[in-house]
Amino acid sequence: MNTVKTKSIWTDIIENGVRAVVERLTDSEAIEMTEAYGTHNYHPLPVNVVRAKGAYAYDGSGKQYIDCIGCYSAVAHGHLSEFVTNTVDEQLDKVTLVSRAMYTSELALFLKGVCEYTDMDMACPMNTGAEAVETAIKLARKWAYAKKGVPMNQAEIIVAAENFHGRTTTIVSFSTEKQYNEFFGPYGPGFKIVPFGDLDAVRAAITPNTCAVMMEPIQAEGGIIIPPDGFMAELRSLCTENNVLLIWDEIQTGFARTGKKFAWMHEDAKPDMMCLGKALGGGLYPVAAVVGAKHVMDVFVPGDHGSTFGGNPVACVVALAAMAELEQKDLCGASAKLGALLVEKLRALPHPCIEDVRGRGLLVGLEVREGTDTHKLAEAFVEQGILTKETRHRTFRFAPPLVIDENLVNQIVEKTSKALDAVS
Ligand SMILES: *Cc1c(COP(=O)(O)O)cnc(C)c1O
Repeated sequence: MNTVKTKSIWTDIIENGVRAVVERLTDSEAIEMTEAYGTHNYHPLPVNVVRAKGAYAYDGSGKQYIDCIGCYSAVAHGHLSEFVTNTVDEQLDKVTLVSRAMYTSELALFLKGVCEYTDMDMACPMNTGAEAVETAIKLARKWAYAKKGVPMNQAEIIVAAENFHGRTTTIVSFSTEKQYNEFFGPYGPGFKIVPFGDLDAVRAAITPNTCAVMMEPIQAEGGIIIPPDGFMAELRSLCTENNVLLIWDEIQTGFARTGKKFAWMHEDAKPDMMCLGKALGGGLYPVAAVVGAKHVMDVFVPGDHGSTFGGNPVACVVALAAMAELEQKDLCGASAKLGALLVEKLRALPHPCIEDVRGRGLLVGLEVREGTDTHKLAEAFVEQGILTKETRHRTFRFAPPLVIDENLVNQIVEKTSKALDAVS
């Protein structure tokens, strides 16, 4: 330990500024400090990112990585997108935080903008995906009692097995992933779990008390699981027939990730409500929202719901810049084209340990055969300068920023091939 680090962090920061103190930390010091002082609810790759730009991230030694995690699709615009960062720069001269006790022009424009972008009527701004999901659950339940006539406290929501909707206590109540909920009961009631992609199972689970079906259009954390063709559209019809709300959680699949603005657009299965997050924050800031049809969204009255930071001016301008840039750069088109290329090229790799390659747009999963040393493979990816992590089902996710190009797709495939050599 040198004197700098035994001296109070605060003296150091006050004398030298936060950035100078951050810059001085080595990669191994950063890793040790994180493990010593942070709860161990993550198992990160042994990589300390000190800067990132576009599709690339760099560690303290200057090693370059292609960021195929893309913050689980939150970094769709690439790291430090100039349109987004310039917007924030300008905003920092104006106003950043006022609370919802007042109106702001930023919020006004965001609400209209996100409704136009999603073709929905009204929006409720939040900060994180889990909050958006919680918000949608509250809206659906209130709609059940206020509009559908479900007896008080009897509303049921149908969800899918292997889902991922976030980490709050209510949400982990209906997770089927043991590690997400094992020690966190008692669980909140009111959820019915059916197999993903099974329309008959949804039909059988619907009762007069069912207020909503909430699912991801493609299960991303679950291992890039794409439902059978026609499932989304048929689910839409089934919900309509039974006066049940359809809620798509598009937090990971939304905003061009799968080659369309939203994944439900692959089958024109427009929901009554949609949860948004991740890429809505332009790779820079947590921004989330629920958007939906007026007859659902208008059940909220003052005091029903809220968030201190939700809809703050910085979040609003970031989200507006993020949506504008997706359109301006046609990142839907890029995602569709480059995703198809990535899938095609990964499928052509000769490695026998590959079980399956699947994806829509730039949400791609490479599943390896049972018995493959996935720990070793993860290390080999890092060695090759590819950031990717295993989701469930031995599936490595490729969700790079949508600003990559064909050359970078080729590099990803080449490096993946070399990483697979290490376990073949
Ligand atoms: C990431 C994610 C969430 C949770 O978002 P947070 O911002 O981490 O709370 C919810 N649903 C889906 C589908 C996600 O991918």
